[in-house]
Formats: sequence, C-alpha cells, structure tokens
Amino acid sequence: MGDERVLNLGWTEWDTREAVEANRAAFLHALGGGRMWLVTLKQCHGDVMHVVNSPTAHELRGDALATRTPGLLLAVQTADCVPILLADTRHRAVAAVHAGWRGTLARIAEKMLGRMRMEFDTRAEDVFASLGPAIGACCYEVGPEVAQAFAAQFAEARNWFEGPFDRLASGDDPAPFPWLSMTPPGHAAPAPRVRLDLRAANRSQLEVAGVPATQITASALCTACRTDLLFSHRRERGRTGRMMAVIGIRA
Ligand SMILES: [Zn+2]
Repeated sequence: MGDERVLNLGWTEWDTREAVEANRAAFLHALGGGRMWLVTLKQCHGDVMHVVNSPTAHELRGDALATRTPGLLLAVQTADCVPILLADTRHRAVAAVHAGWRGTLARIAEKMLGRMRMEFDTRAEDVFASLGPAIGACCYEVGPEVAQAFAAQFAEARNWFEGPFDRLASGDDPAPFPWLSMTPPGHAAPAPRVRLDLRAANRSQLEVAGVPATQITASALCTACRTDLLFSHRRERGRTGRMMAVIGIRA
C-alpha cells in the first residue's frame, strides 16, 4: 500500500484509531446507516455465533452475528475470507458471517441457518444470501492438510478445488516424484498444492441447507487479484486493511 488514503475499516497496527473511526463514519454515512449501531466482532476463525438484541459496548468474540432488532448494523471484517450476509425477509431477521477455510470447514454458514431457525423460526427457503469479495480459486493455494480436512467433511469437496485434489486428499502420496532424488540440490519440485474456492464451498453449504440457488448472489471479485480495489491478507503478506460487510434492519 502506498501513501494514498485507503478505506481501512479494521483495527490494524499500521493505521491510527482516528483514521479507522473516520473511515467507519464515512462508510456508514455512505450507506445511510449513520444512525444505526455498528456491532463488530473480535473474529477468531471459529464457529461461535451471537444473537444480539441491543447495542453492545464491547466487541464479542466470534465469527457470526444475527439479530431481529431494528437499528443494529451487524458487521464482519475480511481481507480474503468470505463475508456472508443473510436476510430472512419473512421474519425480518438478518445475519453476518465470516468464513475463512476454518469457518467453512466448521460449516459456520449452515450452522447460522440452524441458529436462525431456532431463534427466529427462519426457513432456509425464505433466506436471501450474499457472498462478498474473497480470495478466489485463482489465487488461494492450500496444502494437503486442508484438502484432507475438507474431503473428510464434505462428500462434494472435490468440486471446490482445482489441482490434484484426489491425490492430496487421499494422503497416500509418499513419493509423488520418484525421480526427485535425481534433481540437483535446490531444484526440488515444490510440494503439490491445490487451490480452494471458498465461495463455491459456502454457496454449496447454503444450497444444501435449503437456500434456493436463485436467492444467492456472489461477488466474482478476487481480493488477491484486485489489490487495486480490495484488501488481501495473503497477497499483501499480512500488511493490509480490512473491508467490512454489514447488514441490518432500519429503525
Ligand atoms: Zn485471484
């Protein structure tokens, strides 16, 4: 990142509190949400969810929020992970979910639909879902441990990976290149990797849970390809900002 002003909405060590507060105020103003109470999370790549009914003074720890209370603006912050916004238009309930590979593996989107059913009587067929910009299958390389974890958890996992998924997922790949010993030092082939499509995985989770495909929209933007527009934790090696996806019910 250069010296130009960027719309960083998260607390990061390189940005000042004043700048982030000013950016958040400008963001809320642009949305027409200036009078709404912004609810943010201390995100931890887990599957902890919170139902909030009133403004909270402190940040809750977790990765998903839901409410039926007007005036609250639920936020998740991302810089590669998938922000997922859910709206049950029948019962007027909303949710915001943060799904990286760990949250996706833990089925956080699906669990949120279950929680909304419990709390608000939400039926998946009444839910509209929106998946925001995230790192794409073009750029999101992961190792065999991630492929194996997904293969163990989802029958359809191979649909979300590009590259030698079956070989990596099976785990019985002790010597993929028998000729390796013949390569000169320093020229060893890198360990095989696959690329994960986090949006496809979450879209599938929502559809399997009953959200109609026609009610799911997803941004096609890859955060790592488009660092001119977006923040990417991976591409920018951790020194990046945070985007914010918000949803709420107007008071
Ligand atoms: Zn990309």
